[in-house]
Amino acid sequence: MSLTEITTRLTKAAQDAGRDPASVTLIAVSKMQPDDNVRAVLEQGHRVFGENRVQEAAGKWPGFREDFGDIDLHIIGPLQTNKARQAMELAQAIHSVDRPKLATTLARLADEIGSCPDLFIQVNTGEEPQKAGILPADTDAFVKEVRDLGLPLKGLMCIPPVEETPSLHFALLGKMAARNGLTGLSMGMSGDFEQAIALGATHVRVGSAIFGARS
Ligand SMILES: *Cc1c(COP(=O)(O)O)cnc(C)c1O
Repeated sequence: MSLTEITTRLTKAAQDAGRDPASVTLIAVSKMQPDDNVRAVLEQGHRVFGENRVQEAAGKWPGFREDFGDIDLHIIGPLQTNKARQAMELAQAIHSVDRPKLATTLARLADEIGSCPDLFIQVNTGEEPQKAGILPADTDAFVKEVRDLGLPLKGLMCIPPVEETPSLHFALLGKMAARNGLTGLSMGMSGDFEQAIALGATHVRVGSAIFGARS
């Protein structure tokens, strides 16, 4: 597949849902992709990328920014507090705010740095023990906590369990965002981004369908 094909499918999914395609941001997830693949997508003009690991992102994006100018970088993987400053200095958005300690650290650093990326709270909608994210039952309280810290909270993010129907999780995330007055919905990956768009996704995170299988 390719960037053009995914963009076409995204546009159609939005139109089918009666939505403006411009209301959906395509995050090209470049983790573990060879630099040549990433460069090819940059050369096609795409400027919004997602990375799982801060260290990997710090290794490749300063160089790409020198060559291609401004790039909107989203950190979408689990974030350790000792990597928070680096993440904040590198990225325009963090999708994986998943615990009070991380929120407190981000707030302290935001004061020091004087700015903060857009934040999404990761919700463990499938309540999977091995997965990061705040539990659905704790989400409303955590939203309040993050807001009370003065942080720029944009929305919620989820990764549905692989063996379950993703739409149920997308619908649940949409409901939780709506009742908290949050407009951002980071949901949908290569296999299910069209369903996510039908259920209101504002940010889809698509890796392998754009770049090919990861090495
Ligand atoms: C890797 C990853 C993606 C992209 O997955 P694909 O199936 O390759 O589209 C999206 N979101 C998160 C959090 C990821 O870690």
